[in-house]
Amino acid sequence: MTTGVFFNDVFKGSQWNIIGDKFRRFPEALGGSLSMPQVRMYASPPVSEELLLQIHTPRFVDDLKRAWYYDGVRCSVGGCVEALEKILSGELVNALVFNVAAGHHAEHDYSWGDTYASCAGPALWNARSKLGRKRVAILDTDAHHGNGTRDVFRDDADVLHVCFCGSSRSECEGLKVRVDAGWQSSDGEYLDKVRREFIPHTREFRPDLILHNLGHDTCQGDYGDLGLSPEFFIDLAAEVKQCAREVCQGRYLIVTHGGCRADVAEYIFPAILQILAEGW
Ligand SMILES: [Zn+2]
Ligand SMILES: [Zn+2]
Repeated sequence: MTTGVFFNDVFKGSQWNIIGDKFRRFPEALGGSLSMPQVRMYASPPVSEELLLQIHTPRFVDDLKRAWYYDGVRCSVGGCVEALEKILSGELVNALVFNVAAGHHAEHDYSWGDTYASCAGPALWNARSKLGRKRVAILDTDAHHGNGTRDVFRDDADVLHVCFCGSSRSECEGLKVRVDAGWQSSDGEYLDKVRREFIPHTREFRPDLILHNLGHDTCQGDYGDLGLSPEFFIDLAAEVKQCAREVCQGRYLIVTHGGCRADVAEYIFPAILQILAEGW
């Protein structure tokens, strides 16, 4: 069982909008987790323009190509594309994908919040074109609503999207769900909501893989502070890994999302990588 880590050196040394240079000491900050024999490190490759155009409009991609953050965006998306294909083809069991300027706020023709292209859209399009129709359960525990993910997969009956944000609502026969995470939460309360609102849905949905948009902007002192401790994110990854083992042979892809505290990133991601790699 191999765990992949996807990183590119373009992710450090720039002040990304909102998250800043939080990965400035990565991948070295992963420490001993990186040298575990079952962990394989990959340089996230840039996604092709053709693949971006499967999800985004030509006007959107033209603008993106002229932006200063394009290199960060395309390597973030490219890491996700590679990781998803490698997991679904059996080369990896799970993966931790670093991401600086792409993700859940990017719709087909609009984006905001420092996520300037979809990660999940191109990744799933690519995997399906090579491996056939695949069902994915997407868990979003960033502080903010994953409007982009919702837009990209709105009519996709093979994508369950459970998004923890500011209100509760269920649409599309229970396939597109919002869970109110509340203004303040203890670690235990939030984990209980994941157990109640994500895990049973996922069991019933029977996905081929769980994709997790894992923001740590909900941590105490960060810009989406819900009162959660740094330990919470490690416990959360352990819980979702266990769910993936139960429902989809462990296939679990984590994509980093919001959060600007470099100290939290350096604390949680080595531990999360260890959780992904251990116990098989
Ligand atoms: Zn956020
Ligand atoms: Zn949401």
